[in-house]
Amino acid sequence: MQIQKCKEIPLSILIVGAGHAAGQAAASLRQEKYEGEIIVFGDEPVLPYQRPPLSKAYLSGEQQQEKLLLRAATFYEKQNIEVKTSTSVTDINPQNSTIKIDDGEELSFEKLLIATGSRVRKINVSGSELDNVHYLRTIEDVDRIRSGMAKDKELVIVGGGYIGLEVAAIATQAGMKVRVLETEDRVLQRVTTPTMSNYYTRLHEKRGVRIHTQTRVIGFEGKSSVEKVICENDVFDADLVIVGIGIIPNSELAEKAGIACENGITVDERCQTSIPRIYAAGDCTNHPNPLLNRRLRLESVPNAMEQARVCAANMVGKDKTYSSIPWFWSDQYELKLQMVGFSSDGDSEVIRGDMDANQFSVFHVKENKVMAADSVNSPKDFMICKQLIGKEVDLDKLLDESVELKSLL
Ligand SMILES: Cc1cc2nc3c(=O)[nH]c(=O)nc-3n(C[C@H](O)[C@H](O)[C@H](O)COP(=O)(O)OP(=O)(O)OC[C@H]3O[C@@H](n4cnc5c(N)ncnc54)[C@H](O)[C@@H]3O)c2cc1C
Repeated sequence: MQIQKCKEIPLSILIVGAGHAAGQAAASLRQEKYEGEIIVFGDEPVLPYQRPPLSKAYLSGEQQQEKLLLRAATFYEKQNIEVKTSTSVTDINPQNSTIKIDDGEELSFEKLLIATGSRVRKINVSGSELDNVHYLRTIEDVDRIRSGMAKDKELVIVGGGYIGLEVAAIATQAGMKVRVLETEDRVLQRVTTPTMSNYYTRLHEKRGVRIHTQTRVIGFEGKSSVEKVICENDVFDADLVIVGIGIIPNSELAEKAGIACENGITVDERCQTSIPRIYAAGDCTNHPNPLLNRRLRLESVPNAMEQARVCAANMVGKDKTYSSIPWFWSDQYELKLQMVGFSSDGDSEVIRGDMDANQFSVFHVKENKVMAADSVNSPKDFMICKQLIGKEVDLDKLLDESVELKSLL
């Protein structure tokens, strides 16, 4: 009998997208001792980088572009990770275990990670194509915005979410005249309670930001650039417009490949999609959270990083599940806000600390259980807040600053 030697196919993990989740997954795969080929495909012209500083220190000019990179180029070289920048993946073929990139080349994978992130939601009103209407998602976006920022110019920010307010803080500090237009009746409506919304409104107004709630933009007017922002009941002058009205998960590529998607790419607790050997991580996923007992689609770095680690472990044959309480942060002026859990899960609030001194935590509680917490300039307390989620506590003690927070654990 003649034994035929099989042609050796090199093991290969391909990663679509080159953001937080992709960069972390590639590094974690090496930490997990994966020795096969790793290729990361990103349609932006840069190595994986951090997005949070884009609306903070990079926008203000305090942080340079090199410092945004998650890891230096030498890291990928040393770890034998190939990062193909300015390269879009156009198709995934799960049957053949191949992907196609924008120059038509096809590549085979043993396992695939989809980490395509999300993109900005565009405003669909007349004049939105004028050249000083900006969105903020990439380094290129910020470079364009910065070239239009100047002292005493009128900046109109459409959307009073975290990104809008972070930009408002930086632009005000740069001497711009800033206005925030929000359709809801308060800023940060989607993510926190009226207590925090009012606190942030006061904070910004004290610095000179004009906040208009229940204000819907219906058009932009100007010759080549916006000069007037037209709202249902008002008209505002503008030299620069920045729109921050949310994001859309990049799940179309997966959907086209027949992978189950619903408000993002549907994954299980191991970050596996409906197709074995294909995983997904980060903003693009809709995933189960066993601690909160529901499915979530999150837009946060901690989520992208943790899901990436879970994917890497499972891709090398381990059995790791994702179960973290969501947390997030936002920097505005000299204030660091850190949030854990969903404030909407609570039905009452306990405020510990001094709001006027800008150092406090708001606990969102239900039946004496801590469901979520928002901490301002209290990083030590926040570490404990994270551990208090889901715990029953004595609310009087929670309020009383003479009682150490740690003692409630
Ligand atoms: C201005 C700003 C400020 C933020 N601030 C905070 C903060 O303070 N705290 C926090 O926790 N989170 C913050 N976030 C959110 C956080 O950055 C995201 O949750 C995080 O980037 C998600 O990582 P990701 O890898 O899933 O996706 P992304 O970082 O979006 O990366 C996905 C990448 O894949 C690329 N891609 C998509 N499709 C393809 C394709 N077919 N082929 C090749 N490449 C593709 C995309 O262009 C992108 O480069 C902020 C986001 C922005 C934009």
